[in-house]
Amino acid sequence: MSNEYKQETSLVQIGNERDEINQAVSTPIYLSTAYRHQEIGQTEGYDYIRSGNPTRDVLERHVALLEKGDQAFACSSGMAAIQLIFAKFKVGSNFIISRDVYGGSYRLFENFKEKYNFSFTYWDEKTDLTSLITADTVAIFIETPTNPLMNVVNLESISQVAKANNLLFIVDSTLFTPYFIRPIESGADIVIHSATKYLGGHNDLLAGLVITKGESLSEEYAFLHNSIGSTLAPFDCYNLIRGMKTLALRMEKHLDNARHVVDYLQSESEVTKVYFPGNTGMVSFEIKDASDVPDFLKSLKLISFAESLGGVESFITYPITQTHMDIPEEVRISYGLTDRLLRISVGIEHADDIIADFEQAFKRLRERVG
Ligand SMILES: *Cc1c(COP(=O)(O)O)cnc(C)c1O
Repeated sequence: MSNEYKQETSLVQIGNERDEINQAVSTPIYLSTAYRHQEIGQTEGYDYIRSGNPTRDVLERHVALLEKGDQAFACSSGMAAIQLIFAKFKVGSNFIISRDVYGGSYRLFENFKEKYNFSFTYWDEKTDLTSLITADTVAIFIETPTNPLMNVVNLESISQVAKANNLLFIVDSTLFTPYFIRPIESGADIVIHSATKYLGGHNDLLAGLVITKGESLSEEYAFLHNSIGSTLAPFDCYNLIRGMKTLALRMEKHLDNARHVVDYLQSESEVTKVYFPGNTGMVSFEIKDASDVPDFLKSLKLISFAESLGGVESFITYPITQTHMDIPEEVRISYGLTDRLLRISVGIEHADDIIADFEQAFKRLRERVG
């Protein structure tokens, strides 16, 4: 699919016009691990499943276009995508990381410290980024919006610092999706997604994506992706393609519903603070009293208390016991991640039903207290 179409159109059309043999409209799932050769040194384009697969190719080519990158790599999970990115760096490297980062990334980075003698300098927007750069710094790794505190980071200004200091600029863009934000357009070199979230969109798929800009970087990651083997299986590539076809519709509805939920939460007397970055269905909020959290979660009927985000069903997460459990208490409190914070992934149900579920849960809290 070419670049001349609008995003909604090219998303829906992923895979169509790609099957030259049978003209299938939906991408066929190629399970074959191997491809026959006519003679030594000849190939029809595919050799072995880890090195290349027609179903994965459709996905990767389309994702690269969508993110305005040069190449994309489909991985077995978001964490596998992050692991792939870090496989490029030498022992002793230093990285500047946004302070409020996905708990699983934090856990992996802690592990990297011991294994590879990597060091990680955590940054928030109150600190001058340039002042953190050392002779060992090789990359800046940013999550935007941050999770779960939903701070939106200015990608252009970080990109300028990265370019001026010869650092790679990596963005985990899982919560915004390429439908709303394309970090490569703002100067990022590498974008990652946990495609388990909005891109897959249906809470039934584990997948990750790496998108690169620039020929040598793309070549290097093509080599590493094949050498490490963190590739996504053909069934899952198909499932991700299928999910992405409705990305535009879903994201519009997630955003619209999130706005309604934010309006409601801001009027709710039990809620002391609401965090909403826009351009996503993610909303975090603080309730008055941390001791109410267990009862509040139990009272919800429609919204699932579950540990993921970005699917069609509404989820609520308690970050300090779930997604961010591995971040030490004093660290998370230092940047405002408290035991009163809850995170909602607003689904695409009717907004009235989502809000009514919150209303009845808060009402029960008040009745119990009163
Ligand atoms: C979920 C998530 C990841 C990890 O992805 P998996 O697909 O669960 O391995 C990384 N970054 C962010 C922002 C996430 O939300």
